[in-house]
Amino acid sequence: MGFEYQEGELYCDGLKIKTIADEVQTPFYLYSSEILISTYESYKKAFSKIDTLICYATKANSNLAILNTLAKKGSGIDVVSGGELFKALKAGFPPEKIVFNGNGKTRQELEYALENDLLMINVDSINELFVLNQIASEKTKKAKIAIRVNPDVNPITHHYIATGLAKSKFGVNIHEVKDIYLQASKLENVEIKGIHCHVGSQIIQTNLYGEVLQKVIKLAEELHEIGIIIEYINLGGGLGIRYHDEDVPTIEHLSEIILPYIINTNYKLILEPGRSIVGEAGILVTKINYIKKGFHKYFVIVDAAMNDLIRPAFYKSYHRILPVVEYNMENEGLIADIVGPICEDGDFFARERLLPKPEEGDLLAILDTGAYGFAMSSNYNMRPRIAEVMVSNGKYYIIRQRESYEDLVNKEIIPEGLS
Ligand SMILES: *Cc1c(COP(=O)(O)O)cnc(C)c1O
Repeated sequence: MGFEYQEGELYCDGLKIKTIADEVQTPFYLYSSEILISTYESYKKAFSKIDTLICYATKANSNLAILNTLAKKGSGIDVVSGGELFKALKAGFPPEKIVFNGNGKTRQELEYALENDLLMINVDSINELFVLNQIASEKTKKAKIAIRVNPDVNPITHHYIATGLAKSKFGVNIHEVKDIYLQASKLENVEIKGIHCHVGSQIIQTNLYGEVLQKVIKLAEELHEIGIIIEYINLGGGLGIRYHDEDVPTIEHLSEIILPYIINTNYKLILEPGRSIVGEAGILVTKINYIKKGFHKYFVIVDAAMNDLIRPAFYKSYHRILPVVEYNMENEGLIADIVGPICEDGDFFARERLLPKPEEGDLLAILDTGAYGFAMSSNYNMRPRIAEVMVSNGKYYIIRQRESYEDLVNKEIIPEGLS
């Protein structure tokens, strides 16, 4: 299952990737529904001893078919914008399994959330709390909320994705949040349901979750003492995956850290994994167009680019890259930069990577790109966004068509009155 070699050819859930590539053309994202489903089920199983709702973080990959696959398995979902809420509803998630996050929700987004009676809205500041209460009263609704706390812990991850530091823009200082809960408890149109936090992404030290939980449970107990009952503890997402040779905790391991804190309490748990659910379920399939010798090194120039996958340029992240058809191993290897055709020096997928001697026309698979791959793609350099394909039950399906040149212009207008 998943991505594996059989007799020198890379397969996805039993289908030969070369065959799919010949039919849909490169580049494209390819997802394994077997990996997607089994990863979601690992979460369910690991946390089955307590009342847990897994709320997949839409932003990691918001393709409707991916969302629908998870919705059918009973997953909940975390959305961070009106657009994501729209897609979650469209993909079939029931509102009572949707949580709404974000530090800058607009009035329209809050109205949209209230109209749909979501499981809860995670409020990020006292000002948002008052705005939400106001909107809820206009709509004669009660907004179910959690407050996002910033527990001031330091995940060792890229600074762009460390969100639980004191300096971070997210959440309410844990030392001040009690007062906000107290104020919330007095608002007519707000109902307190939980505590939310999310401290970062690509976290590989799981004991961090223990540290956070300790702080959050202490807060919940203090709130209890002043008559505020917390039903849900939401620990956010952030579990890392293995991109290279990192020592990455399993989902099972994560549950072993978390369970002891919750198992003898009445708290229900919410988790919001994004990357760890969908990251390993996707690859980017790309074709080598040219191999060129530069001053000091070789360049393997492929047909995908940083607009399709920005993680290497943005976070300097490492992705394993494999040949889709294993080369003749008698050839010697080639150390090369694997780059795209965009006019930026940051347009690379790997630097000084050893490939078994590649040839023009060969296909490469850039692994672990299911999360924050397509989701962060753009039309930079006027490149139509690439296709997304998913294998399910022995067949492959196009789940997002490759954009056309027409798609690049069809929202743009040359006004009549232009000089
Ligand atoms: C990004 C995000 C997640 C998901 O993070 P992953 O690292 O992909 O698991 C979950 N919750 C919130 C609030 C987020 O911002």
